[in-house]
Amino acid sequence: MRRPLVAGNWKMHGTKASVRALVEGIRQGMGEVAGVEVAVCPPFVYLERVSTLLADSDIALGAQNLCQVPQAGAYTGEISDAMLLEFGCRYVIIGHSERRNVYGEDDALVAQKCVVAARAGLTPIVCVGELLEEREAGHTEQVVGRQLAALLEAEGGLEALRRAVIAYEPVWAIGTGRTATPQQAQEVHAFIRTRLGEHDEQLARDIRILYGGSVKPGNAADLFGMADIDGGLIGGASLDAGDFLAICRAARP
Ligand code: PEP
Repeated sequence: MRRPLVAGNWKMHGTKASVRALVEGIRQGMGEVAGVEVAVCPPFVYLERVSTLLADSDIALGAQNLCQVPQAGAYTGEISDAMLLEFGCRYVIIGHSERRNVYGEDDALVAQKCVVAARAGLTPIVCVGELLEEREAGHTEQVVGRQLAALLEAEGGLEALRRAVIAYEPVWAIGTGRTATPQQAQEVHAFIRTRLGEHDEQLARDIRILYGGSVKPGNAADLFGMADIDGGLIGGASLDAGDFLAICRAARP
């Protein structure tokens, strides 16, 4: 039985005051989300503060990215796996579409980051998903299949996936208010599970596959009700404690 996970991706949002209010709001509703694993992924500069605010709660901490090089060194602007661990992170989002499409992260770099994160003991939340033009051209499986292949074929990639969570995030649904239908999402989730099963059946059965892309309180239950959807990666709606908690409640088993 896969335990549902709902993770909030705060992206580049927040102030010292607003992250405190948001965490306090989420903490207040945690009693209603039994059986659901909940995580929040603030910007790096707020990790220490949020880690303190989460003390003695069941909410896990995650980061939004990490450096592909595991040792400390001359990598200006980067943050290492060891630093994330020192600040209490359990999760790290890898290969978000904004990293891929705005910062040019390619499949090979995403795979490298996934391996580094997993080897350090972090749980990578690896994002895959197609652009609108790729979906419209009928290339969704080809694109997601290519992104998965890079992960599976990287040295240490299969072992890393055994620690990982996958997030299927159709790029056309992220931050647009346009959500994949539960059937559209389920089709791709099933495809991902089948493709992983060609390499490792146990992995395919066990791995959690989250859906991300304009998940809101009003559509979460239908999405999470699909057989291969094990929770969500939530952007905009994770910045409102009430909306985020409503989405977490919709993921209850
Ligand atoms: C995301 O950033 O991963 C995301 C899914 O954003 P939104 O929920 O705002 O579409």
